[in-house]
Amino acid sequence: MSLLEVTHLSVDYGGVHALRDVSVKVPDKSVVSIIGANGAGKSTLLKTIVGLTRQSSGTVQLDGQDISRLKPHERLDRGIVLCPEGRRLFPDLTVNENIRIGAYRMRDSKKFRQRLEFLHDIFPRVAERGNQIASSLSGGEQQMVAIARALISQPRILMLDEPTLGLAPKLILEVAKLVQTINREGITVVMVEQNAKLALKISDYAFVLETGSVTLEGRSADLLLSDKVQNAYLGGE
Ligand code: ATP
Repeated sequence: MSLLEVTHLSVDYGGVHALRDVSVKVPDKSVVSIIGANGAGKSTLLKTIVGLTRQSSGTVQLDGQDISRLKPHERLDRGIVLCPEGRRLFPDLTVNENIRIGAYRMRDSKKFRQRLEFLHDIFPRVAERGNQIASSLSGGEQQMVAIARALISQPRILMLDEPTLGLAPKLILEVAKLVQTINREGITVVMVEQNAKLALKISDYAFVLETGSVTLEGRSADLLLSDKVQNAYLGGE
């Protein structure tokens, strides 16, 4: 059984069909990428999985249980967390204060401190800048803080919306390595990326979304070699 399963999901914004009959399976401990052009519905898919957007039909299941009527904080309690596009940090708060916000459902302060120590091992640069105001950090550092904020709640599934957007090539590679490190810690990752090549290289399975529908899916290694993906998303390399 998949850890997360989206079945026949449709989302309408007024008259706009953002998603149509989308089905996606996410195996436990895998990295799954969702690729596709601007406006294909990738962010909508993630937002619907975490409960920020409501489906007009279809279901979201976690461990075989239907969670599609649960509120966002109830889904967070079950271990699904979203690191949104554009990072959405509180610019005037410090790095540590931003991370603390990710733990707002965590009552046990000892657990929080242990979790923070664990994250500081993974993100040494975030650890160094704990008392710095978030807006003074570089784009790459802010992305790391946003991921750390998502991970502080000890999720089972981390959903990353465009984690490499706007980052320099060196930092893109750092984020890619980070995704692999997080996954090795046993966290399942669902990643939306416009950088299709990178996404396919670091994921196990991938889904291609086009105007709200899944048009292709499979093992990422196979999709990397597919003519359709090569021509549409990898510039025919
Ligand atoms: P991008 O990479 O540009 O964020 P995306 O693949 O994530 O694109 P979505 O943001 O999910 O795509 O948008 C899918 C479609 O739904 C688009 O046509 C978009 O204009 C529309 N849409 C998204 N959010 C809303 C909203 N709140 N109200 C109305 N339409 C919306």
